[in-house]
Amino acid sequence: MINSRPGFLKPSPQHVPAQRGAVYLVGAGPGNPELLTLRAARLLQQADVVIYDNLVAPAILDLANAAAERVYVGKRSGLHTMPQQSISDLLVKYARQHKRVVRLKGGDPFIFGRGGEEIETLASRGIPFEVVPGITAAAGVAAYAGIPLTHRDHAQSCVFVTGHLKDGSMNLDWEALARPNQTVVIYMGLPGLPTLCAELVAHGLAASTPAAIVQQGTTDSQRVLTGTLQTLPAIAAAAQLAPPTLIIIGSVVSLRDKLAWFEAENKQQESAVLEKQHR
Ligand code: SAH
Repeated sequence: MINSRPGFLKPSPQHVPAQRGAVYLVGAGPGNPELLTLRAARLLQQADVVIYDNLVAPAILDLANAAAERVYVGKRSGLHTMPQQSISDLLVKYARQHKRVVRLKGGDPFIFGRGGEEIETLASRGIPFEVVPGITAAAGVAAYAGIPLTHRDHAQSCVFVTGHLKDGSMNLDWEALARPNQTVVIYMGLPGLPTLCAELVAHGLAASTPAAIVQQGTTDSQRVLTGTLQTLPAIAAAAQLAPPTLIIIGSVVSLRDKLAWFEAENKQQESAVLEKQHR
């Protein structure tokens, strides 16, 4: 092993080839393969095994070395996700077989991705690892929706939260989220969208605050629906959206009217029609 300290790879990974017996925790970006980093693409080409889950698009997996073993650890219909500890144990197992292991995760591995938990296990077992950041959904999806997350006239801060429902409710710091001049981005928020909008209004945001929900952002299937805190839940329900979806709340959403650049015309029309119906 090339490392001077057990459990750590040499820094400065530029052009450094993947090492055997090491794990590369790689962010795959928000779905469009063009948004992979160079480092991610290079490591995929050198991988002996690629361990991936739900959000990794087939077009991204296709970039992996053809001989690499592909191991799916996500949710299959009707089945549960593999427990986090089993995934971490799998990474350890392959690394101990002297494989070049790429652990591929949607977006950025450290943002709502449990990447930290996986490398904690690696660190405690002395397995060398490297972390390759990816474009997180908030950054990628907002860019492709034409919504700048900050803008001097609209928002001086931006917060990312998970809207995952726990026992049917959402345990968030509503007062902090309802601050003025702030953009709020919600991951995993579709089932909780009505609660989210109602709570933000109850804590002081205007019901007319612009809000958007984006399905499969950055990909050819991207759909963007816009409305307000008052109208978005009904607009989203009528559109029968399916995950992955990202919710963006704040006055920056209004900039999309001028700045949208990615969707086909018919998709923009869909948004306009639905919005009209729910006004
Ligand atoms: N680590 C990932 C997030 C994992 S949580 C990242 O940094 O992006 C999964 C959630 O991310 C989804 O439920 C959805 O809210 C969001 N997401 C990921 N890709 C998306 C996409 N292409 N379009 C919309 N939302 C996306």
